Amino acid sequence: LLQSSHPTFGCASVQAWSIDDKSVLVEAILSMVNQLRRNPYGKVLHTGSASRGLIGDSYNDEQQESIIWSTNLYFGFNRDPHVIAQATDALQTYGTGMGISAAATGMTGQHVEFEKEFAKLVGKDCACLFPTGYTANLGAISGILGPNDVVVIDQLCHASIVDGARLSGATIRTFKHNDKADLASVLAQEQSPYRTTLVVLESVYSMGEGIAPVAEIVTTAKQYGALVLVDEAHSFGFYGERGAGVCAQQGVSDQVDFIMTTLSKAMGSIGGVIAASEKHVNLLKSASRAYIFQASISPADIAAALASLRILQSDDAMRAQLWDRTRYMRNKFKQAGFDLGTGDGPIVTPHFGDKDKLYAIVQSLYQRGVQTLAVTYPIVEKGRGRLRFICSASHTYEDIDYTVNALIEAEQEVNAYFAQLSQSSSY
Ligand code: PMP
Repeated sequence: LLQSSHPTFGCASVQAWSIDDKSVLVEAILSMVNQLRRNPYGKVLHTGSASRGLIGDSYNDEQQESIIWSTNLYFGFNRDPHVIAQATDALQTYGTGMGISAAATGMTGQHVEFEKEFAKLVGKDCACLFPTGYTANLGAISGILGPNDVVVIDQLCHASIVDGARLSGATIRTFKHNDKADLASVLAQEQSPYRTTLVVLESVYSMGEGIAPVAEIVTTAKQYGALVLVDEAHSFGFYGERGAGVCAQQGVSDQVDFIMTTLSKAMGSIGGVIAASEKHVNLLKSASRAYIFQASISPADIAAALASLRILQSDDAMRAQLWDRTRYMRNKFKQAGFDLGTGDGPIVTPHFGDKDKLYAIVQSLYQRGVQTLAVTYPIVEKGRGRLRFICSASHTYEDIDYTVNALIEAEQEVNAYFAQLSQSSSY
């Protein structure tokens, strides 16, 4: 059902979903919920630790103690005692919310310190906070560009990038995933001295791929005089020295005009941030509607993010632990014969062609105490559906061993069930 509705794949499918497409999606999800009598997308966390929790279903009363692989909390900072103490302190000092945008009086000293320390770490003059990662991309792209400009985005870019591009009113062009030659040909066609061109890419894409050739793409963009924005949502904190990200690791931070990350993943809080030159940050702070007309990050959330940012810059052992767990998990899955695609980072994605089997495997894993999600078309290519296990420094070797065995068993169970189904339907 999901498959029949969308002519293009990828979050960046620039073509907007029509109301009919949306209705098909809603029908598909409702029918799946009705058939399974549970909702694989509507799980609710009751209690938990960094990597485990009592998970409930929003559709029925089922509850299951599970190892959680479906969140982007790469270091488990959301459960770190020091981070929680800092957030609690800010809550007591400043209250629960700022009640106004950062452009007015919506900043505490901790918002200001966060911007300064983040900018310094990634090698930029200044930074600009937004309430979420989504609105950081949305607000930056629509703040930088207008209808006379051009935005050129990698075809697999996140929805927040596509939506920012749409909102800007600029001409939207895509280039083939990670392909600098294709980018060059698009830029050559769009070159004009009268308008601004912005190239947008991610340093690590979120569906389990390897690191992007950021330096090559940036060099190509600069040959055509384009500005560049790099989204480091899935790399900040664990690539590059002190976790500064891929732009720093590949030595191109000074050529990248805007470095973006989210506070909801490695930093375990909520918010988004863009680091840039003073001139560009001033532009965002005075022209980005998502910055000016939206309330700012709450005091507790920014205090949590600032505490996490400080730990992650200084704690190389924690970073090493994340990479160690990641390698261990990847090896275990590979030894068990699973196809992990091209990735090498903490988003580990065993591929399964058949989406019906994939949903059944997710359910079987849930019943075995393993919480993960399936990703299928149109988010990824047809026939390349996958499970998404997001490894963190807080997962243990036992969590990993248990999960790999559970997946082997779940796949066997589902294969046997489907074989039986096809036998009975052939009579
Ligand atoms: N960019 C990328 C690449 C992302 O994966 C996400 C979140 N999935 C965002 C931006 C938005 O971040 P947030 O969820 O913190 O708003």
